[in-house]
Amino acid sequence: MNSILITGCNRGLGLGLVRSFLKHPSSPRHIIATCRNIQQAEELNSLAQEHANLHILQIDLKDIDKYEDFARQVESIVQDNGLNVLFNNAGISPKSTRLGFVKSDDLVETFVTNTVAPIMLTKALVPQLKKAAEFNASAPIGPQRACIINMSSILGSIEANSDGGLYAYRTSKSALNAATKSMSIDLKPNNIMAVVLHPGWVRTDMGGSKAPLSVEQSCTKIVQTVMTLSEQHNGSFLQYDGRQLQW
Ligand code: NAP
Repeated sequence: MNSILITGCNRGLGLGLVRSFLKHPSSPRHIIATCRNIQQAEELNSLAQEHANLHILQIDLKDIDKYEDFARQVESIVQDNGLNVLFNNAGISPKSTRLGFVKSDDLVETFVTNTVAPIMLTKALVPQLKKAAEFNASAPIGPQRACIINMSSILGSIEANSDGGLYAYRTSKSALNAATKSMSIDLKPNNIMAVVLHPGWVRTDMGGSKAPLSVEQSCTKIVQTVMTLSEQHNGSFLQYDGRQLQW
């Protein structure tokens, strides 16, 4: 893989993914990590000082009108090789959970961040993904060519929902799952694949301290899973260790 772009990399799983991709024996030539505020992203900045292949770009993903300019910044890094992997990782989970407490503002904001942003960012970066798929025409379908990975959650699975609640979060991730399935169909003729990934329940600001997995455990497995993605996985819902999940 020549290049990967990961969103939401100043903390949590995004930062863990950057660390794991940097450590991988075949670390990508360009790792583009996004965050909302470069000045405050201390750990990411110190990694970039140690690793010349790590590029940091600043974007608030709710600023959808800035995506075209953002895509130009990405192009100036990846150039004629295009972008091999787009990893839409950034997300939010509002506090309101039960039906009696749900707020329409939370539903809308969560939908914008968790669903609208990954769809629109994918749209803006499709030209770069197409370029990579064409540039690597002799490689098999997968991350060596062009691939979209959308960070979802088991909480977006309708079949696996046995506890109810979490209206904003569940609906935003179920919708992201639906969008990813469409991407996997629409972009197949361009040799671009798309999957949704559940990272496991992980100890981050979002996952909380009781989660069973550390960021490193989850991200190490995610990177292994990403590196082994192939055509047969297109349009599937996988968890961090590659196991297939129910929709
Ligand atoms: P986290 O620790 O809360 O980190 C979330 C990241 O998303 C932060 O970098 C945050 O940036 C960024 N972000 C949020 N809104 C943004 C926006 N508008 N523009 C740019 N960046 C934005 O969460 P996490 O646990 O690492 O979660 C990462 C992904 O995994 C999410 O999609 C989440 O739904 C999914 N997930 C997590 C778990 C878990 O157990 N942790 C389980 C299932 C799925 P700021 O620092 O600027 O806010």
